[in-house]
Amino acid sequence: MDFYSLNHNAPNTSFKEAVIKGLAPDKGLYFPTSIQKLPASFYASISDLSHNAIAFEVIKQFVSPEIPEVELKKIIKETLCFDFPVVNINDSISSLELFHGPTMAFKDVGARFMSRCLSYFNQASLRDSSRQDQKKETTVLVATSGDTGGAVANGFLGVEGIHVVILYPSGKVSEVQEKQLTTLGQNITALEVDGVFDDCQDMVKQAFLDRSITDKVQITSANSINVARWLPQMFYFFFAYQQLHKHHKNIVFSVPSGNFGNICAGFMAQQLGLPVHHFIAANNSNQVVTEYLESEDYTPKPTIQTLSNAMDVGNPSNFVRIQEIFKNEFQVLKSNLTSFSFSDQQTLESMKRLYESYNYTADPHGAIGFLAAEAYQKDHPNTHCVFLETAHPTKFLDVVEQVIPEQIELPAQIKAVMNQEKKSISISTYEELKAVLLGDL
Ligand SMILES: *Cc1c(COP(=O)(O)O)cnc(C)c1O
Repeated sequence: MDFYSLNHNAPNTSFKEAVIKGLAPDKGLYFPTSIQKLPASFYASISDLSHNAIAFEVIKQFVSPEIPEVELKKIIKETLCFDFPVVNINDSISSLELFHGPTMAFKDVGARFMSRCLSYFNQASLRDSSRQDQKKETTVLVATSGDTGGAVANGFLGVEGIHVVILYPSGKVSEVQEKQLTTLGQNITALEVDGVFDDCQDMVKQAFLDRSITDKVQITSANSINVARWLPQMFYFFFAYQQLHKHHKNIVFSVPSGNFGNICAGFMAQQLGLPVHHFIAANNSNQVVTEYLESEDYTPKPTIQTLSNAMDVGNPSNFVRIQEIFKNEFQVLKSNLTSFSFSDQQTLESMKRLYESYNYTADPHGAIGFLAAEAYQKDHPNTHCVFLETAHPTKFLDVVEQVIPEQIELPAQIKAVMNQEKKSISISTYEELKAVLLGDL
């Protein structure tokens, strides 16, 4: 499949190049040149298919022919090494738990899939001895406000030919998150930046534009702008549908959204023919999309810090992809997407109510997804809403402990990293990042 730039000022490119580059040379996001619906026979037999078989059918058109089918099956098998259960909250609302992976956030799927694609491309170019210039190692550069770093570090750990450099804001990520990205070692380097998330992000952007780096080092991004991280997120929506469609009609997804990559993958699933009735973007006080749907005026805002910090995004990078799916027709988009925003106070109340009324412990992001589902159902009673539970509650222990009286048992994945020693390099300037990337530090 070829991909084009949403800024329309760069040549079309292959899946391989789109993954390696991350962003098009004109700074646009890549988008597939065509989207084929899956055949009716696929949907008719979905109940009998394994997760691996579903994922294969869903992603095949986007990655072929560059990733051969045998290789794709292997990548999918390694990516989907955990469960995606749908848990009933009440008669009309369920939770789709996406946190059973190695770092307990939904980003594990995209990170694992992308790392294996990159590794395959690296090995393929190593085999091709006539192309000496491609023998370089690839450096994956990523800024994180918390969850991305851990998922990327874990997903790329030990992957041959790839060096991962993660920038995170010192003192601004949870203890669990920090341990997840600083304790792995091997091909993972954690840079602890004296600043906020935006400073990390700015340094990363500067590096991508810096010829004195890009001439020497092959760098790519592992944020959700990368097609290999974004597209595999379609899988969850199919897995949920598989579990629900026999008992429920009018399935609606409520997606806790920050950069809008996850919900945008949901819209892609719908483009492949998945019968989704409607989508809800569940937001915290960072409400640029909620305001846009009311006013048709899209105005990015400075980020507001909240308890659901993975959604603290003032200018969601994937929203342009959603607009592209709806051909920039505002009314069509609006008839497919509803957006709600909730405060920290409401988030805490939601977590408390979920625990007390439904015996369910949610993390702050999932709790907002639940509120948005309830709000939507006030006017749309004949629907079944599934909110995406995007992280395990223990990743946000300090928040969860404020509202839930019982002690929460740490899962094995988290216990394992908490005992490891943190290893990071402190930096405060761009020059220091450059030194790391050029191998001088
Ligand atoms: C990344 C993340 C989100 C937001 O996902 P987007 O694809 O950026 O919209 C929501 N919840 C959690 C826990 C996350 O880590």
